[in-house]
Amino acid sequence: MRFDTVIRNGTVVTATDTSIADVGIVGDKISAIGAGLPVENAGRVIDAASHLVIPGGIDVHTHLDMPFGGTTSADDFETGTIAAAFGGTTTLIDFAIQYKGQTLRQAFDTWMLKAQSKAVTDYAFHCIITDLGSAQLEEMGQLVREGVTSFKLFMAYPGVFMLDDATIFKAMRQAAKHSGLICMHAENGGAIDVIVQQALAEGKRPAYAETCPQYLYLSLENMDAPGFEGAKYVFTPPLREKWHQEKLWQGLARDTLQVVSTDHCPFCFKEQKELGKDDFTKIPNGGPGIEHRLSLIYTGGVHGKRLSPNRFVEIVSTAPAKLFGLYPRKGTIAVGSDADLVIFDPNHEETISAKTHHMRVDYSMFEGIRTKGAPRTVLSRGRTVIDSGKFVGRPGSGQFLRRQTYSGV
Ligand SMILES: [Zn+2]
Repeated sequence: MRFDTVIRNGTVVTATDTSIADVGIVGDKISAIGAGLPVENAGRVIDAASHLVIPGGIDVHTHLDMPFGGTTSADDFETGTIAAAFGGTTTLIDFAIQYKGQTLRQAFDTWMLKAQSKAVTDYAFHCIITDLGSAQLEEMGQLVREGVTSFKLFMAYPGVFMLDDATIFKAMRQAAKHSGLICMHAENGGAIDVIVQQALAEGKRPAYAETCPQYLYLSLENMDAPGFEGAKYVFTPPLREKWHQEKLWQGLARDTLQVVSTDHCPFCFKEQKELGKDDFTKIPNGGPGIEHRLSLIYTGGVHGKRLSPNRFVEIVSTAPAKLFGLYPRKGTIAVGSDADLVIFDPNHEETISAKTHHMRVDYSMFEGIRTKGAPRTVLSRGRTVIDSGKFVGRPGSGQFLRRQTYSGV
């Protein structure tokens, strides 16, 4: 057997197993896993001794190239996917936004154009619904068939994204009919109760929940930073008291939370966040995080003795893939799966800083935080994207992923 690439001697970690093994890649797929794979004729051999080999991270909540509050999020699909790759994330699910009066198809086409020629790794879309007439209600089924199998609804941002309860209810029923999944931006306690009751009355499946690194590492205290600095931490849902952090970690450990995404929605401090200098309501709402998700979760989770390495992989890759119809193509290391692989140095120490990160944004929410554990080399469908800390990928090589419908985690 001839391999294009063999990753040798690494500790292969999936959500369920840990073993020392070689991983053989042919084309864009994993074609063999085992000890002592033949390397004589291999195109490339990567030594991963004393490193973990984990499935590429999957970030199911990002906002690249998104117009919002009179400006546009600072990373586009090129800089955003490059920064993601540096951090070990090889698949992201961004949001195609339907504006009022548009069809869902127009939203999908608009975001495909933003991504197609720029993405260096694979991507998919949720569709944000803001206007649901009977025509768009019919379109939901079509979108599911084309691989956009989840819909985001907002219970916040009146006049922009917020939907009334009747519309939310219609969308939920239509999604259920086509086995689509609803992602809820849930910020209104009273309304949530109504929806929960409706869902239960219909015998709906249990809900899943995400959190993000900012809620595990930051708190209200960051908002008290001097001057206008607090604007760096203006995003929703907002930061809470510090004691929430340990509760969230416990939730991840016990599976009451299933997924860590980033809600990466970067706005530069200069000129973008500054739009709200004299009026806080004009601060664009969001923070940059796409690059450090794996490092931060590994540091606080595995080194912090809260999570096993397998649970770490499950949270950052496997559960997101299962939840959003990408498994087993993505989210695991198995023969036949895409060769999206991260060679991860569990002991590499680093201090996060805007000076060294790759996101196109002039500050870091995590400035000064020490991490232990970082990706060294990253492959997307067999192609090396990050090689020992250097970007070697190509814009436009990422593919749109037609997702399956949800079938359990
Ligand atoms: Zn978001």
